[in-house]
Amino acid sequence: MSAFESVCRYFEEAAGVMDLSPNMKKLLLTPEREVKVQVALKLENGEIATFVGFRMQHNSARGPMKGGLRFHHEVDAEEVLALASLMTWKTAVVGIPYGGAKGGIAVNPQDLNESELERMTRKFVDEIHDVIGPDKDIPAPDMGTNAQVMAWMVNQYEKFHGFNPACVTGKPLELHGADGREEATGRGVGLLTEALLQKNGKTLKDVTVAIQGFGNVGSFTADYIHNRGGRVVAVSDVSGAKYEPAGIDIPAAIEHVRTHRSLEEFETSQTISNEDLLTLNVDVLIPAALGGVVTKDNAGDIKAKYLIEAANGPVQPEADDILQKNDVIVLPDVLANAGGVTVSYFEWVQNQQYFHWDLERTRSELAKTLNSSFEKMWTIATEKHIPLRTAAYLMGIGRVGRATVLAGI
Ligand code: NAD
Repeated sequence: MSAFESVCRYFEEAAGVMDLSPNMKKLLLTPEREVKVQVALKLENGEIATFVGFRMQHNSARGPMKGGLRFHHEVDAEEVLALASLMTWKTAVVGIPYGGAKGGIAVNPQDLNESELERMTRKFVDEIHDVIGPDKDIPAPDMGTNAQVMAWMVNQYEKFHGFNPACVTGKPLELHGADGREEATGRGVGLLTEALLQKNGKTLKDVTVAIQGFGNVGSFTADYIHNRGGRVVAVSDVSGAKYEPAGIDIPAAIEHVRTHRSLEEFETSQTISNEDLLTLNVDVLIPAALGGVVTKDNAGDIKAKYLIEAANGPVQPEADDILQKNDVIVLPDVLANAGGVTVSYFEWVQNQQYFHWDLERTRSELAKTLNSSFEKMWTIATEKHIPLRTAAYLMGIGRVGRATVLAGI
């Protein structure tokens, strides 16, 4: 099942509970605009490289569209569209005044040197600058992109439109970025894991945790859990997984990746595969890398009691059915990783007001937003006897649907 089919399946499940009309369903599923552009550049060896870039703008009923930009060789139109529609429901679930979009370039950023990466990013902005902007569609970092890429994007956008830091979020602090944006997604994953455990009478100190992916989201999630007394026993990246039943020294792992850019040489008692990490005997499993990693073939082997979707779309729908049958509680991506877009919203607010918040204010507003969204989702799920994912979609679709009806066509 493709990523877009998966999101549609989850949408349909919630739409069924809500009794949404077929007309409204079609309207909410149809993207507003799909942009596909050529991104060509001359490489330093003299060859010409041509990539395909996308910006999918799914829905703007609740405000300007918002969503990350991904540089990854597996990026394709359907995946970007799936992620754009996920953003529509995500921004609505956390109640921030945005719609949903997503972008990507089908490229392995590791194949380019820094100057080629910069020129590719600038070329992409040249192609899409007319359809993005602070009141239209605001990109942010995602897999394979970071604050530096966002800095190049703003600079290129401003060449066309003048000073406008609110056109992109996830920027470096020196260029109107927000304190706390870099850690926000992982911190949010940690906060929400804590909230979920609390509902079951537990704290992070009571559980063991395995995390797949040790980039921005995975490493800040691990850091939060470690600092709150949780035992992270396995972490991984594209090079493989590291397992230490007594608990991994997370600050050392983070430092190792900072200097070596990979976990490959990091020492733990066992090195396992990314597939094996998913089925470890732990309490909490946190996929924080790619989508679609939990499938109907491995879902039955998952031993964790809680699965936190830090990545976008890590659990395929058939796998979700199996997890439900096995009483694994899944905290869905539409809320679990919404800390990033929430602090992106705070960054945009600060840029619009030319006023900088300190880290404490960002952290406290983030906790307030995520915890209140979690409570609403939990109440809906409990009252209606539905999974957390369906409850979250119900919140998101309901808010977008009401905004659409009130505004009119
Ligand atoms: P990143 O590029 O910083 O890190 C990705 C990590 O995944 C790296 O450690 C990489 O080595 C690892 N990885 C890549 N391929 C892998 C594979 N086949 N098996 C195991 N590990 C693999 O990306 P990120 O920003 O941390 O994003 C991770 C996930 O979180 C993505 O699904 C993204 O859409 C989602 N997400 C990110 C943010 C954000 O603010 N960055 C917000 C919401 C959701």
